[in-house]
Amino acid sequence: MPFTLHKPLLEQLQTLSGVALETTIDAQDGTRFKEAMLFTHRGLSGPAVLQISSYWLPGEFLTIDLSPATPLDAFLTVQREAHPNLSLKNSLAKILPKRLVEVLQTLKVVPDITLKQLNSRQQAELVATLHAWRIQPNGTEGYRTAEVTLGGVDTTQLSSKTMEARAVPGLYFIGEVADVTGWLGGYNFQWAWSSAWACAQAL
Ligand SMILES: Cc1cc2nc3c(=O)[nH]c(=O)nc-3n(C[C@H](O)[C@H](O)[C@H](O)COP(=O)(O)OP(=O)(O)OC[C@H]3O[C@@H](n4cnc5c(N)ncnc54)[C@H](O)[C@@H]3O)c2cc1C
Repeated sequence: MPFTLHKPLLEQLQTLSGVALETTIDAQDGTRFKEAMLFTHRGLSGPAVLQISSYWLPGEFLTIDLSPATPLDAFLTVQREAHPNLSLKNSLAKILPKRLVEVLQTLKVVPDITLKQLNSRQQAELVATLHAWRIQPNGTEGYRTAEVTLGGVDTTQLSSKTMEARAVPGLYFIGEVADVTGWLGGYNFQWAWSSAWACAQAL
């Protein structure tokens, strides 16, 4: 499910609605997805967010690497040598969406300076923040937008061959109603169809 954000952060990020970028998102239990993230007018969405939402519990933080493909410390060091008078903002805009960099500058995450003015402490802070941006979602957009649901009928109580309830002969459960949650990308359809096939053979 897409995440909603708390008011101050949401208002600061709202102008980014529609901006997408490649990210790595980690949940607190260590689960990680490396896919696109999309800023929306309500918060965050996109494949990485929809996937990680199955592993997030209210109150928990997410850690987002905004530049998983480019190590920023090495990038900035090379850029500073090559273009010392370039603004830090325009330098980062070579690898991150420009609108995102502008908002990060407004939030004072990205200092309004040139590369030659960027000292090593500022660089280290910036790199740490952009590679591990910690946010605490307010919640999710809920059942209305969910693509898959957690929980359901406990599969340990079903025959894996026929999907028949062990305790109630003649009662079968298949698909979404069972306690099976697949990643996005077709696994839930696969489960729905496969469990239906197994059940139908038995019937
Ligand atoms: C927006 C969205 C996008 C998704 N994208 C993907 C994807 O890309 N890949 C993927 O693998 N999965 C995806 N899913 C998940 C996937 O659709 C489900 O896991 C799958 O459809 C479950 O199949 P099912 O037959 O168990 O249940 P459902 O498809 O939900 O079928 C249940 C049926 O029962 C009917 N019904 C309910 N109550 C009653 C009643 N009382 N009497 C009679 N009929 C009733 C419903 O109308 C419905 O037709 C997506 C889900 C959503 C919502």
